[in-house]
Amino acid sequence: MKNNATNSAFMKLCNRRLILNIVRKKVVSRAELARMTGLTRAAVTLIVDELIKDGIINEIGTAEANYGRKPVLLDLDPNSLYAVGVSITRYDCTIGIMNIKGELIEKRKVNISSSIDAYMNINAIMKDVQIMIEDSAVPVGKISGIGINTPGPVDIHTGTILAPPNFNIWHGVNIVSEFKKDYDLQVYLENNSASLALAEKNYGRGLEYQSFMLLVVDTGIGTGLIINDNLYRGVGGFGSELGHTSVDINGKPCSCGNRGCLEVFASIPSLLENVHRSDKTIKTWNELIDRALTGDETCRKAVENEALYLSAGIVNAMNILELEAVILTGDIQYKPELLLDLIRNKVESIAINRHIRKLPIMISSIVKDSEVISAASIVLEKYFMGDAGTHSSV
Ligand SMILES: [Zn+2]
Repeated sequence: MKNNATNSAFMKLCNRRLILNIVRKKVVSRAELARMTGLTRAAVTLIVDELIKDGIINEIGTAEANYGRKPVLLDLDPNSLYAVGVSITRYDCTIGIMNIKGELIEKRKVNISSSIDAYMNINAIMKDVQIMIEDSAVPVGKISGIGINTPGPVDIHTGTILAPPNFNIWHGVNIVSEFKKDYDLQVYLENNSASLALAEKNYGRGLEYQSFMLLVVDTGIGTGLIINDNLYRGVGGFGSELGHTSVDINGKPCSCGNRGCLEVFASIPSLLENVHRSDKTIKTWNELIDRALTGDETCRKAVENEALYLSAGIVNAMNILELEAVILTGDIQYKPELLLDLIRNKVESIAINRHIRKLPIMISSIVKDSEVISAASIVLEKYFMGDAGTHSSV
């Protein structure tokens, strides 16, 4: 009897989470929810009424109908829940507040410096987060948590930044514990590529797919794998590190201990280092692509080389995991068409499943504020995948 009651409560929580995760992605009616979940109309109505009572979902009007009663449409209430995002890069720190619908309502830069220790920087960040929350007038009780993203590797279980290259003052710092000293909130740490994949899944091109790889090409090569709508974290939290798979076993040593890693060839600094053998004037990816597009041979060749390496990485990844799509982001978001065409052509010619299916390869649609949106996404993902089902109210 007791088991039956527990099972029934558990099923109700699972169904609540299922419904919330649909409303999270699209405006729907109760009838649509019943169709999509396979639940009865009565069960859907019960859960939806509860979510409306809890203030998480709103009725926002009616849809057109050919006959009968017009269906009432449901959407998340943007004021029901918020998340704080803290994004620390090698150069700066951005903080923000995002609502449950993924809309950034506050964003600020925090001055941090690599010439002072991490703890002094953390104090400055926390002070500015406090001021930002007060200025925003968001009730603290409606903030679900604080999500922090930094370059990897990080230990997500302890909340510690491990030893990311060129990020020395942060090595070994348990940033989650530091934040928890000041905030009575959930605090989460994730590496920036993984959190970008979460943002892409919920607010970007990833909305169309259940399983995809996000490839971040900037100072390094980062990856975030979404499998069946979940971020793949692996057993130790490393998830996937495509940038550190070798594309040349006799290649240059990499900071990770391996040789000839994809990152050694295809990160933007590596790419520019190669270009500098012929032309030292090019300082950024933007300059390189601008010149390649105007017919500069050296630059065009460099973009072709970049496409070759990234294609090799993509095909290696797809030969291990046959995913639905690959989404690219990072510095290469600038005028990406030339690079994208080259990658698509190459992948189409060498992918093992090329005769069966064409792999969609595209650029991320999240261009502005992606770092801070992705940091706040860590919190909202926790809410929708866990807490949303386990608490009866926010
Ligand atoms: Zn490596």
